[in-house]
Parts: sequence; structure tokens; C-alpha cells
Amino acid sequence: MASPGDDELQTALTQLKAANPALGIPKLHALLRTEYPDWAVSEKRMRKVLATIAPPEADTGPPHPSSQLVEGLDIAQWTPRVDVRLFDKRKGKGLVATQKIKAGETIWLEDPFVIAPQWEIYDKQRAGAACSLCTTLFAHSPEARARCPHCPAAFCNALCRKRADKTHPLLCAAQNPSSMPLLRWARSKEWLALHALVQCTARVLLANAAGEAARAADWAVVRGFAVLGMEERAKYSFRAEPDRETWKSAFELFCAAFHRPRREEAPAKNLTDEERRVAAILRKPLPAEIESALFDYDAGFLRGLGRMSLNLEAHGGLYTLHAHLNHGCAPNVSVRHLDQRHALSRITVKALADIKPGQELLITYVNPATGYAERRAALEAWGFVCQCARCAEEGRDWAPPAEPEGLGDLASELKAGLGVM
Ligand SMILES: [Zn+2]
Ligand SMILES: [Zn+2]
Ligand SMILES: [Zn+2]
Repeated sequence: MASPGDDELQTALTQLKAANPALGIPKLHALLRTEYPDWAVSEKRMRKVLATIAPPEADTGPPHPSSQLVEGLDIAQWTPRVDVRLFDKRKGKGLVATQKIKAGETIWLEDPFVIAPQWEIYDKQRAGAACSLCTTLFAHSPEARARCPHCPAAFCNALCRKRADKTHPLLCAAQNPSSMPLLRWARSKEWLALHALVQCTARVLLANAAGEAARAADWAVVRGFAVLGMEERAKYSFRAEPDRETWKSAFELFCAAFHRPRREEAPAKNLTDEERRVAAILRKPLPAEIESALFDYDAGFLRGLGRMSLNLEAHGGLYTLHAHLNHGCAPNVSVRHLDQRHALSRITVKALADIKPGQELLITYVNPATGYAERRAALEAWGFVCQCARCAEEGRDWAPPAEPEGLGDLASELKAGLGVM
């Protein structure tokens, strides 16, 4: 039996409380003992620590992204210098320094969980001129590259090819031709979030085929990415998103690409060659909960798109640890792609300022050189109003711009949602 630190206990209780808001103290204590059997925590101590946790804010105001911790995530694989902290419900999780970090230091390097690269790089991948895994552009003719044995996809080397086994088989023009109409559609609409969702879905399906441990690890990462539903996004940041008709068409192609619904019941002789080939790749059905979290229209697909848009790094990758970084208008870390010749998609997270132990690491999601109103508008795409010190200072005298007449329901809904009516 070990006694957890206050911080550790606070994090655990915040999570349990968020997942089971109705539980009273004795039941919560029992749950804590089941979830953390190695901990010795008295009910009295639990009460004391509970009292330090801010009550969840009433859910008024605009929707905000929700996120959960990635179960079993081993942060030390990237760095011992940061840890995940669960803040309140509105803010979700973030990263804090565990030790002093000096301005200019590299904090960690990270390869993407999946990548949906900028489209000009995607085109080069398709043409065999960039690595189909890490997106590195090939400087010279591709004589010595590793290749997919089935399609023209090329890789830097055997290692990149091997790593691509986590997604490529389901997105390979030869192994799963049904994925092509979807990818072509995403390309024609230049819809990065859709491509990212396709990559993520392929990864989860292939992890499921690889075994339960692989599936559990990858699914925990996907579920851990913060999410704001597409309907919520449509309401609050409708500017750049494709419309509902487009979502529907994309969903049809999405289901077709992954052969949903699956025809497991069909006798093998009734399956087409491609269905048989894909069935051999997929091996076994997904657990029902993951199946619907991926392939239901609202709760799966649209939610998934929202999740992608919220977490994509500028280059188009989804990064497990990087996705934990919150926004601040005076950021203390920055993200770069420094290894352009060997691993373009690898990010380097660097300190922009000295960071003290316990201090949160913050990147900026928007151009920090712009003024308050512009930043506030840009951050609507992420579904929150920034509360950082700089915004508190600069936003003190800010008033929402006067509405032009005739904007109708959407505008008043928006105002109501923002609490400015
Ligand atoms: Zn590569
Ligand atoms: Zn291939
Ligand atoms: Zn701010």
C-alpha cells in the first residue's frame, strides 16, 4: 500500500468525479479503492482533497472541447520533463513542467500518431516523390526507396515501410481500392480533417487486427484527443467548414471505404475478391462500443471530424503528447519541424521562455501578434474564449462588434451561447 501525493490524488478524484458526478462520498471512496487498489487513502483524507477541487462550472456559455486522459500513456517515452494534469472540466487537460526548463531548450521530439499532410505533400506521396509514412520529400530519383509491394507508395527505408503497416494496408490502392474514392474526395475538397479521420480509423481497425493490447493502446489515444462535435462547430465557427450535405456524402464514402456495415454473416463465396482480401486484413470484428464510436453518423463520424479539426498540428499530423498542449496568447513553447531531410513529420517542442516546475506549457493556436478581437475570433474555431492573463488585460474594455441587421437565428443563438444577450 502506498500513499499517493495530494496532486496525484487530486487528479484521480477529479477524473472519478467527472465520470461519476452523482456519487456521494462513501461510494466515491469505494470506487477510489477499486480503481487504485494500491493506494491507502482514508475517507477523511479523500474529503480533504475533494474540498480543494473546484466544483465543475455550470455548463452555460458556448460549448467547450471536452477531453479525457489517455489511459496508460507513458509520457517518459518522450520526456521525463513534463507531466499531464487534468484541470477543471472547462479547461480539460494540459501539460506542466516537472522540472526547470530553460528558454531555448528542446523538451521533446515526437512522431505523429497519424498524419494527413498538407495536400501538396499528399500529392507527392501519391506520386512516389515523398515518404508515404513520414512525408519526407525525396531529393533524388527514388531508386533505393522501400516500396509497398502492392501499390506505388514509396518510403524512406524499410523502417518507414514497416511502421506504415499500422495504416497503409487499408489505404493502399491495390489492397483496398474502396478507400480510393474517399481519399480522392477528401483531396478534391481539401478536407484535412476528413483525411486525418480516415488515417485514424485505419489505424484503429488495424490495431484491432493486431491484438487486444494494440487496440486498447491506440483507442485510448484516439479517445484522449479533445473533441467538439461538428454540430457545435457549425454553430460557433461555421466559416471554413464544409456544409451538412458534404458531411453526408463524405460519410457514405467513409463507410464504403471501410466496408461498413460489414458482411460478416455472408458465406465466404458470396464475398467479392476485395471483400475477402479486406476481411483477411481486418481479421476480427471491432468491439461494439468502438464500432459505433467510429461508424455512427453523429456520435462517431461527425464527432470524429470535430476531434480531428481540433487537434491537427499545422503540418497535418495528430500527435499524442503535443495534442495535450493548451493555448496561451503568450506561449512559452513552440513546435517546429526541424528534421526536414530525414523525418519531416517529426516535431521538436522547444521552450520559448524559462519554465518553472509546476508551470503549464502553452503553445499558441493563433497568430499571437494580432490584437485581442482578432485572436478571440480566430479561437472560436477551437470552441473556447481564451482566459489567459494577456486576454484578461487586453479584453477588459472589449465589447462584441455591433451585429449587422438581419443575421437571423444563427446570430442570436451565437450571442445567447456566448452569454452576451
Ligand atoms: Zn519516411
Ligand atoms: Zn500499398
Ligand atoms: Zn489569451
